Amino acid sequence: MWKWVVGGVAVGAMIFLLAIGVDVFPVILVLGLVALLFNVPALKGMTRNFAQPVRASAGGAISFQDIGGQASAKQELVEALDFLQDPEAVQELGIRPLKGILLTGPPGTGKTLLARAAAQYTGSAFLAAAGSEFIEMYAGVGAQRVRDLFSRARQLAREQSRQAAIIFIDEIEVLGGKRGQNQGHLEYDQTINQLLVEMDGLRSSKDDVQVLVMAATNRADLLDEALTRPGRFDRIVRVELPDRSARREILELHTRQKPLAEDVDLDRVARETFGFSGAHLESLANEAAIIAMRHGLRKVHQEHFVEAVDKVMLGEKLDRRPSPEEMERVALHESGHALVAEVLRPGSVASITITSRGGALGYVRQAPQDDRYLHTRKEIEDDIAVALAGMVSEELTLGGRSTGALQDFQQAFERGRLLIFSGMSPLGVVSEDTLPESELHTALTQVVQEVETKVRELLEVHVEDLRVAASRLSESERLTGAELRRICGLRDLEQPLAEELAAT
Ligand code: ATP
Repeated sequence: MWKWVVGGVAVGAMIFLLAIGVDVFPVILVLGLVALLFNVPALKGMTRNFAQPVRASAGGAISFQDIGGQASAKQELVEALDFLQDPEAVQELGIRPLKGILLTGPPGTGKTLLARAAAQYTGSAFLAAAGSEFIEMYAGVGAQRVRDLFSRARQLAREQSRQAAIIFIDEIEVLGGKRGQNQGHLEYDQTINQLLVEMDGLRSSKDDVQVLVMAATNRADLLDEALTRPGRFDRIVRVELPDRSARREILELHTRQKPLAEDVDLDRVARETFGFSGAHLESLANEAAIIAMRHGLRKVHQEHFVEAVDKVMLGEKLDRRPSPEEMERVALHESGHALVAEVLRPGSVASITITSRGGALGYVRQAPQDDRYLHTRKEIEDDIAVALAGMVSEELTLGGRSTGALQDFQQAFERGRLLIFSGMSPLGVVSEDTLPESELHTALTQVVQEVETKVRELLEVHVEDLRVAASRLSESERLTGAELRRICGLRDLEQPLAEELAAT
């Protein structure tokens, strides 16, 4: 409204000046330039970048109880944080105050949540910023923003009558990468230098606000060594992907507000989501509820969780429908993977689908009985066998191969490399750096071909089961592991496992 009033007055003034014979051109030019400076986004940014302190957001109240799993990360953090709560004891004992804690680990594992919980645990003010917010093309802006961040943290703590403030910098590798390596590295180097200066300046005097810097990264290897040396980021806390029981805890946290039907078995969902991060599990719970809503239901059922796992792993269903011949080929291919997986690892197939999702025309989801972190030669060979089974079953039933097996080969060769470089191939212990390409190629081909022969023998025995499973899959587009086992007359290990879980 006021803009219209000012505009009207300005136009009136111009007309008046013109009427009395004043040259208004310079005035219009100056006004035009001012308007441009405040309205073109990039120019607006320029004025803001230099004039205003860096953007930092205040944190909500998250406690350690709101974070599933991560028991050892929480424990390490709590031990490290206790000093913030008792500054007198720290001073009496002459302890050098902790200045920085680095949280490292894969994306979505709860590093930001842990930093927020740390602020809540210590009753500190909380400011968050991302490493990328500090880097601009203008030299000196990043350093200025680092200074602003530290002074804002102290100011915020005083305003909130708190003794301490936690500054959380996400993606620290963007701002704290090794110096001298970035293009236009002057700006990067100045920014990181300023961060080091601010961290060195942190003191623990009683009446001063204590500032603790927490930072998170997925790439600790990229950080400048000056940042990780003692006295800067003193503690490095590893935040890992959750194991099965942690996945169960996280699922419980994210389904607290959702009405679950009686048939929902979160243990089972946790078992089938090996490799999922906390963020994946949050998304899974949310997607399951969305699917329930799409079906017009008021409660979320187990089948919605099952579908949501596929969606989170592979993406939304696609409209594209392959031709009937292609569908038949995909069904035979996927049934081949599933059948070999079941024969080699009974009870391991969770579901098979031939609905196109993301980049995949079909997919077999395997659920290991336990999370595995070490692999034997037999297990790796079984992985290769499952990967090759799609191609072999196409050959046995349709008489030829297709391009659908390309990704399977990549997977098979990846596992083959693991086997070779873990010293489990006939080559013995070999170095990745010195093994000649030709020798690697020969060894890989040999491993893969031996497994392929075994897969062919195995599928020849089960070729009838393969055809039946594929035709049922073509009809329903999806089979559960239990259905596959029933169709192929294989032992169903699921029931005893469910009973065992219920008993514990
Ligand atoms: P990035 O490295 O990508 O920044 P991050 O490790 O900081 O990720 P967060 O931002 O803390 O991950 O987590 C993202 C979301 O995932 C959270 O908002 C939460 O919903 C969920 N989440 C992740 N880990 C956990 C966990 N351990 N318990 C409960 N929820 C979790």
